[in-house]
Amino acid sequence: MPHAIRIHATGGPDVLSYDEVTVGAPGAGEARVRHTAIGVNYIDTYHRSGLYPLPMPAGIGQEGAGVVEAVGDGVDWVKPGDRVAYCGGPTGAYATERNLPADKLVKIPDGVDDVTAATLMLKGLTVQYLFRQTFPLHGGETILFHAAAGGVGLIACQWAKALGVVGSDEKAALARANGCAHTIVYTREDFVARVKEITGGKGVPVVYDSIGKDTFPQSLDCLSLRGMFVSFGNASGPVAAFNLGLLAQKGSLYATRPTLFTYANTRAALTAMADDLFALVKAGKIKSEARQRFALKDAAAAHRALESRGTTGATVLIP
Ligand code: NDP
Repeated sequence: MPHAIRIHATGGPDVLSYDEVTVGAPGAGEARVRHTAIGVNYIDTYHRSGLYPLPMPAGIGQEGAGVVEAVGDGVDWVKPGDRVAYCGGPTGAYATERNLPADKLVKIPDGVDDVTAATLMLKGLTVQYLFRQTFPLHGGETILFHAAAGGVGLIACQWAKALGVVGSDEKAALARANGCAHTIVYTREDFVARVKEITGGKGVPVVYDSIGKDTFPQSLDCLSLRGMFVSFGNASGPVAAFNLGLLAQKGSLYATRPTLFTYANTRAALTAMADDLFALVKAGKIKSEARQRFALKDAAAAHRALESRGTTGATVLIP
């Protein structure tokens, strides 16, 4: 019988319930996918806790890889037997199999295994839009990236010249082994002072901040004049409301709060972004691996590990 992790109420990891479910034939425009690996992402904890509300009961999970078992009417770009990966809603990737809109599916290129694909779709496409679209990097810039040893972070370290902020010396070593140019261990160093020191007082043109509450407004102080504050996550809680005048005081700064799903919002955009990402992977410029694996039914343990800062790089669930 198919199984899925579902939530019947929001709360801590214990609300993740391993339920027997029925998966019918795919409807028009849908495909039924049997998962081989499922990506765990911080956004899943926001859905579980209620920070990002879902109608209850809800499936959970936004990233998966697997094999197409059947397609509904009107779907001709994937067929049964294709290896595919996806990211994005509707939530429900924590499942042995599911139906989902087929326009979310990308074929996994030869040479990329399913587990790797499940570590790349959401996290790698996030780095793609952050570095190519939100604040396009041209190669010469030094950037500041928080949570540099995390799932998104380790991909970012390989993609651009980054000052990476991390919580421990072990994480710093891992970020550097993945190409991070300089690491700052915020548990024993003042990251604003270190950024100023490393950049000769100038600051960086862009900060990619997924920590939220705990690093605001300090992240703004790391920026050079007219720099860009990219707030793309809330691992410590959301940034509280602030006076827009702060951006003027701190140097005519720009601020944006982007989401992957407003960049990969059409099939054309999604496939162009995935082609760009997988070309870098196939060229050996970006490597990704599952550094933690849990059985699907143990999703709660995966959430506990992620929220306690106990993971590095990507985490997957195996059905
Ligand atoms: P990570 O693997 O990066 O895990 C989160 C990391 O954040 C932790 O390992 C920890 O690293 C750091 N952290 C700092 N403060 C806290 C805190 N109070 N509680 C927990 N962790 C903390 O997760 P992901 O790679 O899945 O996601 C990274 C971030 O990117 C998340 O905020 C996520 O929401 C965001 N994101 C946003 C997207 C978008 O389009 N807007 C898309 C994808 C991800 P350390 O020990 O080094 O401090």
